[in-house]
Amino acid sequence: MSESHNNLKSKVLSPNKVFVSEKKITFGRHVSPSLKVKILKRDNYRCVWCGAGVNDEGVKLHVDHIIPVNSPEGRDMTINQLNSPDNLRTLCNSCNIGKSNKLDEQLVV
Ligand SMILES: [Zn+2]
Repeated sequence: MSESHNNLKSKVLSPNKVFVSEKKITFGRHVSPSLKVKILKRDNYRCVWCGAGVNDEGVKLHVDHIIPVNSPEGRDMTINQLNSPDNLRTLCNSCNIGKSNKLDEQLVV
């Protein structure tokens, strides 16, 4: 755990690498299927940003951490805090990709 933590720390320093390290963690490992379903149900199986639904063509929904696991704030949080419904939301794949860029900017600030 501590070893991978150190790796992440060094990667977060370089904004372009953030998305890569995020992928390495893979949210799926931390968010249990039942929790995902709970969040999806709460958000009516729709992207909270653009409203795209599971039945819309080409739309994939993700359960996303609002505060990312590998962000400076996220690294100070426990997995329970990170996986609290308050920190989870449903995003479609296109919003999720757009979000990564925005987060990179936020991390630089
Ligand atoms: Zn969307």
